[in-house]
Amino acid sequence: MAVPAARIVFDDADRAAVAEAVTEMLGTGALTLGPWTQRFEQSFATEHGASHAVAVASGTAALEIVLRTLDVRGRDVVVPAVTFYATAGAVLHAGGRPVLADVDPDTLALSAATVEAVLTPDTAAVVLVHIGGLVSPGVDALAALCEARGIPLVEDAAHAHGSSFQGRPAGTFGVAGAFSFYPTKVVTSGEGGMILTESPELRDEARIHRDQGKGSFGTNHHVREGASWRLSEANAAVGTVHLRRLKEFVETRRRVAGRYDAALTALDGLTPVLEPPGSRSNYYKYVALLPSGVDRAEFKRLCAEEHGVRLSGEVYDLPLHHQPVLSAHRDLRLPVAEDVCARQVCLPVLSDMTEDETDQVIDAVTAVHRRLAG
Ligand SMILES: *Cc1c(COP(=O)(O)O)cnc(C)c1O
Repeated sequence: MAVPAARIVFDDADRAAVAEAVTEMLGTGALTLGPWTQRFEQSFATEHGASHAVAVASGTAALEIVLRTLDVRGRDVVVPAVTFYATAGAVLHAGGRPVLADVDPDTLALSAATVEAVLTPDTAAVVLVHIGGLVSPGVDALAALCEARGIPLVEDAAHAHGSSFQGRPAGTFGVAGAFSFYPTKVVTSGEGGMILTESPELRDEARIHRDQGKGSFGTNHHVREGASWRLSEANAAVGTVHLRRLKEFVETRRRVAGRYDAALTALDGLTPVLEPPGSRSNYYKYVALLPSGVDRAEFKRLCAEEHGVRLSGEVYDLPLHHQPVLSAHRDLRLPVAEDVCARQVCLPVLSDMTEDETDQVIDAVTAVHRRLAG
């Protein structure tokens, strides 16, 4: 039996619930900005202890809308060099200038120190990314730095549904948190995104932006440069149904990660990114660093071909300043980002992973590590 890199889990009851919802909406004709969008927003806000949630078309749209409400046009926005392209892409779409910062080696996330090194008098916002679902214990110091400088802190929580630090949920540490429901994420709606905020003003602005910048649903007065960033009702129903599984998924993922921790800690040279005290990850990804000099492609090939274990996609294999489309930044030297991107692998974590599958991954990684780094 092969262990896949990812698996999307909708059981029979979930499939029936989605089918029923879709049948109902086809009858009523409420296909966008209707009751399922509201249900999804309410349950997502409740799940994360936030006051307001605004559902949108994607995680990238969520980030762009937040940045547009902050108005970053022509100004600097700090993003980590270790993140998905969309974090920087959203800054560009919102008219800002991405400023790439290095990351902390223990959490792969921005820290107060790495951000302070790149702040300018023209910094309009800082975007923190919870890589792999892990909320860094440095989040409080970073929030304090931003507060002292009067700079809004935004969370790209696309990896971090249900994650927390000291009991405080991801997405609630800054002025707003942006989530994605792309199919690989811990909760999916097919496509979709969500903004969490405590600010009623930001919530209202986000609602205006997502619907073509219309001042209100019923009018044709466009008061902002919004776009077509609505979430369809069908996607909202899928997301609402999937969200009900979040706690169970995270428990399973954490159990798998605990077994990986024990196995990898006993191995010499394959270093897991461990959960720091106080941090409770959803284990969107389980990241480990290969010893320098071990060929990642060969490591992955051997796991797949000899052990039937597909490692999942890295977070990330290239730092942003090495992405072709961001070549204006290519001369930057961000040593921690470069190192952790070059050496990481991600062990598969599935929301319904079995003990046997977990054993198979541990056996594969142990054998391949001994062979290549032995
Ligand atoms: C997935 C992801 C996004 C973008 O989400 P989409 O829904 O695909 O637009 C943004 N940031 C990070 C870190 C992501 O992983």
